[in-house]
Amino acid sequence: MTTKREIRDKRRNLAKLADKTVYFNKGDRRVYSPRLCVVCGRPLSNLIINENKYLTIVPHTRYHLNEFFIVDVCTDVQSCYRTLSRKGELDGDVNG
Ligand SMILES: [Zn+2]
Repeated sequence: MTTKREIRDKRRNLAKLADKTVYFNKGDRRVYSPRLCVVCGRPLSNLIINENKYLTIVPHTRYHLNEFFIVDVCTDVQSCYRTLSRKGELDGDVNG
């Protein structure tokens, strides 16, 4: 189980550690692989089979922690809360 506080702390730490931050909006095509939110595990990109290209389906932030380590996180913290709540991994109420 995760608390909202832990989720917020984790996200804040990533933001603090990042050398570089890039924002991706829904529909952004600058995505070349499947992406998952490192906090909640929600898929952030989808393969368009016909075009063999990826499309951003959830607005997310990409943190370049160093030249080898890059993570993606939902831009909206509510998205992490909702996803973890749906999986039964959030301690407490989504709206609390
Ligand atoms: Zn998330």
